[in-house]
Amino acid sequence: MGGLIHEILKMRRHPLVHLEMHITHACNLGCKYCSHYCDFGYAGEVSYVQGEEWLRAWAERLAPENFRLLGGEPLLHKDAAKYVRLCAELFSEAKRDLVTNGLLLRKREDLLAVLMETGTRLSFTLHPLVSGKQEDVVNDALDLAYQYKKKGLRLHVSKRTDKWMKGYRGEGVAILPFTDGAPERSFQSCGSAICKTLHQGKLWKCPPLAYLPLIAEQLETKESWEPYLRYEPLGIDASDEAVAAFIKGDSRFCDMCPAQPQIVSVEGIIPHKSRGARYLKKNLKKAVAFFAE
Ligand code: SF4
Ligand code: SF4
Repeated sequence: MGGLIHEILKMRRHPLVHLEMHITHACNLGCKYCSHYCDFGYAGEVSYVQGEEWLRAWAERLAPENFRLLGGEPLLHKDAAKYVRLCAELFSEAKRDLVTNGLLLRKREDLLAVLMETGTRLSFTLHPLVSGKQEDVVNDALDLAYQYKKKGLRLHVSKRTDKWMKGYRGEGVAILPFTDGAPERSFQSCGSAICKTLHQGKLWKCPPLAYLPLIAEQLETKESWEPYLRYEPLGIDASDEAVAAFIKGDSRFCDMCPAQPQIVSVEGIIPHKSRGARYLKKNLKKAVAFFAE
């Protein structure tokens, strides 16, 4: 009987394309224009006990096709492996990813076995900000990931680091929303619009709105962001109609983003003299060669 009720409840879950969650907000890189504002250096993490409560509650209501654990840099979280196992249990039918910049992969090699065991993909993003000794660390991590791929690890190496989307005007604490007056166009051209975000136990329509409150106190321009700081995420007690409307999405609050995607080059992301571009070129060649094998 309990099994039948469980199956009925599962069938009543709301399907959605994508759901993601920060398990840590801190990052060991600080890529300029990071869409999660991690370059502002805010810290903190979601304790496993807290995260488990949120995930179990929402797993009863949502059936995502794709689920991503990320940050910040999720490998900074000591319980990253426990999170991977939990999500495999709760979202067993979803394509699951753990997203990393790879810098800590050698130190967290134990995680690779857990990813393989749970069928979770390692999504390895090559970042142009990496330079100096970090290049060697990332190259070594990439080698390690390829070794595990040969043993069955699902691996995706993201090659899209030559272009970066910029979601606000200006830089640093002086950033401003775009306010182009065409929120529908901003929404339609947005790459983050499908990235429904579980944060503080609630659902947010995208990472830029979810994490804006975490940097608000740093901003000299906080007043300009007030309309967007009033965004109200969806709580677990929301009605089915409210959840369905949330998943469908709309362009409210999207006026903070550009009506035309703003693309900056690799050089634009690297704030100081860096060997990042050379690192990128080397690794892209390596990744392309591997997949051509
Ligand atoms: S590595 Fe990722 S999360 Fe960290 S600052 Fe860069 S883009 Fe943001
Ligand atoms: S506010 Fe709208 S346009 Fe901006 S990132 Fe979120 S969904 Fe995209």
